[in-house]
Amino acid sequence: MPRFSVRWMVAAVLILVVGGAFFFCEYLIYFPTIFKCAWPKINHARGGEGIDGRPMDSPVRAMVLSDTHLLGAVGGHWFDKLRREWQMERAFQTALWLLRPEIVFILGDIFDEGKWSSQKHWEDDVRRFHRMFRHNTDTELVVLVGNHDIGFHYEMDWFKLQRFEKVFNASSTRIVTRKGVNFLLVNSVALHGDGCPICQAVEKELIKLSRDLNCSRQNSQSGSGVMDSCEGSQLYPPASPIMLQHYPLFRVSDAGCTGQDAAPPAERHLLFREKYDVLSKEASQRLLQWFKPRLILSGHTHSGCEVLHDNKYPEISVPSFSWRNRNNPSFILASVSPSSYTLSKCFLPEESTVIGVYCSAGACLLLLFLAHCLWMKGLLQCLSLCLLGKHKSL
Ligand SMILES: [Zn+2]
Ligand SMILES: [Zn+2]
Repeated sequence: MPRFSVRWMVAAVLILVVGGAFFFCEYLIYFPTIFKCAWPKINHARGGEGIDGRPMDSPVRAMVLSDTHLLGAVGGHWFDKLRREWQMERAFQTALWLLRPEIVFILGDIFDEGKWSSQKHWEDDVRRFHRMFRHNTDTELVVLVGNHDIGFHYEMDWFKLQRFEKVFNASSTRIVTRKGVNFLLVNSVALHGDGCPICQAVEKELIKLSRDLNCSRQNSQSGSGVMDSCEGSQLYPPASPIMLQHYPLFRVSDAGCTGQDAAPPAERHLLFREKYDVLSKEASQRLLQWFKPRLILSGHTHSGCEVLHDNKYPEISVPSFSWRNRNNPSFILASVSPSSYTLSKCFLPEESTVIGVYCSAGACLLLLFLAHCLWMKGLLQCLSLCLLGKHKSL
């Protein structure tokens, strides 16, 4: 066989192995993994109808993810940043394409360094976020605030909060209503209960929203117009809300959490600190009493967990969406009607799988190189040339 054809054949195999592994790990892998996920179906026998008993429209298809932690200019290595952001962008864009959610919620800690970034770095972080999480008009993106976006309570100020709210063009505490479903968004960083100006403003807003929701329920039950005590309140559909926030409600630890994305066994029994890892007991109880949510979705812990508060309020901790925080990131698919909901979890490709594919490709290349040496020159001659650094191109 002529030499040049062997050389071309080796080059082709090299390109095939290296290019194939790269294309698979960086692009293709997201498709089969997310293709396995599907929207859960609402059981019509158990509340699949609207709140007033009439057949409902199709449920809201909501995708929920959390803790993207886009690395900032100070703490992030450029390669780490490039890699994590590429992975999240591909995962998000593939999920949009395959699953077509109507609404996407990100439960805070969007940015890693929003709490201290300069205006220039903040703008750069925001620009990258908009590129990664771009979407068409069929999908609405709703973002909640987390402690890394505006700082923990002691670091938070009006400037950082308003900077965040301006980017996403909405208040951090509000109700988003779609198809008769009320999604209550809570700025949980401001629930310290110490009377700070931001805490006061957020609590005032929560009390107003709680009154509005209660009046909406009473109004729908009485069916005779707005009651006197509800004069001036804004009316929402009469469904109890799905509450979304960054901090989880108070729980002692993750000891009761199970599942493949629960905290590692060594960390599960570590006690949570109130107002740091989870909300305080008081703030948690206030939220439950005010809103009586039928479901709570929260982030912050970076691990998955299911908790039942007071034997009737279920809470799901949504794990981090970033491979920097987990080997197996995931997101939640929620089908929600005014009176019912069903959830499923969609896992993304595992980092260990990707590393395994790259290692296999590397091993393949090594074998090919050895086979090539054996075939062309004999192994000993090849090794001696390599050791002497006088290896000539074959
Ligand atoms: Zn976080
Ligand atoms: Zn957090």
